[in-house]
Amino acid sequence: MDGETFDVAVVGAGITGLTAAFHAARRGLRVAVLEAGEAGAGASGRNSGFVIPTLSRVGPDDVARAWGDARAARFNAQLSGAATALFEFIRAEGIVCDARQNGWLQPDRLEPSDGVWQHRLRTQRQAGADARLVERDELHALCGTARYPAALCLTEGGQIDPLAFTRGLAAAFTRLGGTVLNGCRLLAPAAEQTKVLVGLDTSLGMVFARRVIMATNANGHDGARNLTAATLPFALVLAAYDLPVCGADHVLRTHQPFSDVGRDMAFFRRLQGNRLLTGMFPTSTRLSREAIDAELQRRIGHVFGVETTGLTDLWAGRVGVTPRGLPQLLQFGPNVFGWTGCNGRGIALSFVMGHWLADLVADAPIESIPVPLQALKAARAPQLGVWFARRLIAAERRRRERHERRGATPACTVLHYPLD
Ligand SMILES: Cc1cc2nc3c(=O)[nH]c(=O)nc-3n(C[C@H](O)[C@H](O)[C@H](O)COP(=O)(O)OP(=O)(O)OC[C@H]3O[C@@H](n4cnc5c(N)ncnc54)[C@H](O)[C@@H]3O)c2cc1C
Repeated sequence: MDGETFDVAVVGAGITGLTAAFHAARRGLRVAVLEAGEAGAGASGRNSGFVIPTLSRVGPDDVARAWGDARAARFNAQLSGAATALFEFIRAEGIVCDARQNGWLQPDRLEPSDGVWQHRLRTQRQAGADARLVERDELHALCGTARYPAALCLTEGGQIDPLAFTRGLAAAFTRLGGTVLNGCRLLAPAAEQTKVLVGLDTSLGMVFARRVIMATNANGHDGARNLTAATLPFALVLAAYDLPVCGADHVLRTHQPFSDVGRDMAFFRRLQGNRLLTGMFPTSTRLSREAIDAELQRRIGHVFGVETTGLTDLWAGRVGVTPRGLPQLLQFGPNVFGWTGCNGRGIALSFVMGHWLADLVADAPIESIPVPLQALKAARAPQLGVWFARRLIAAERRRRERHERRGATPACTVLHYPLD
């Protein structure tokens, strides 16, 4: 590859990079994806697989307050449709990734009569989402838990096996004639060589491109470290459990993934082969495997009334948290673009951001992209932000445990603005 020139070079083969590469290649551009490891090595291959067509910490009305009504309306509408677009893409490209578009549930400890539900339904529907309220009996029938009185259901959400999906995206891109260079690390930030060419110093030599997409998100290293520094890098650990052969049929019977609204969020996805995925935000970097296992087994027992033996797999990843909970579309130089700030909910979001990044490098007018373009800025005091958010999560975890020991169900502290 040394000295090779492309129309577009994409750094990072996750959902963002591969979606952007796919759409740029479809427009007839010559595209290469430079990936330090292999497709899916970052968050895209190691996430929980919940396809959720909303932002995580902010609602559609918060987006309007931040970006103005017109921009927010276009953003919210496209994000609301992103899950359906993703599942259609999976079907069209024949990607085998355990894809199920059967809805995503967000339970809360509020009674169905609580006015908060009507507010949540209204804002989601105004944004274009197909949202409904699922009450206790139906929730029990769907998920096998009696712990929550009601849940918001976004019917266009669902689940995928994220690594299989990301690999499928890479295959779809290469079928268009695109190139994925695995084991190709960007060593230094992309630098403009001439007015029209950007130079990329990589572990496989110099690569040149007219336009560059930085798709390394919160997992950038070496020459992509500056993008990661724009967010608070928040660790999330995930684990898989074998469910008991008898007495666990009720657990997520309909394979609808759910994540509750708690700051110390409880979330579960039924995997193929009678297995369950769950996870948590570690409140310290020194948590042992045993401590994580004990906490997660306690949650499974509390939510589903099922006893499991120890975890079979444990892994972790980093999500990019922005102080206001909004994604950031970034311009690094005249011809270098990227984005970050999924705030832990980035499958559907990366899919639309990748599309918009492809539009940008194909010279679409900037006004056609709903997210405001901004210059890269390092997050302020990221370690302090992470420390503070962890303290809040730890406090909620202790409160939950105290209530559960007394047999009570505590109210969740809503996840909104854990860092503010
Ligand atoms: C544990 C976990 C669970 C999550 N669960 C969910 C979920 O259930 N639902 C949801 O919607 N979102 C979830 N997310 C968020 C979601 O996974 C991400 O928002 C999304 O995958 C980001 O994709 P990406 O392509 O932008 O970045 P990534 O997938 O992180 O890709 C970045 C790529 O860049 C590469 N790279 C880095 N530096 C360099 C370099 N110098 N040179 C070349 N390549 C480089 C990396 O190897 C990596 O492959 C989760 C995230 C984590 C970590």
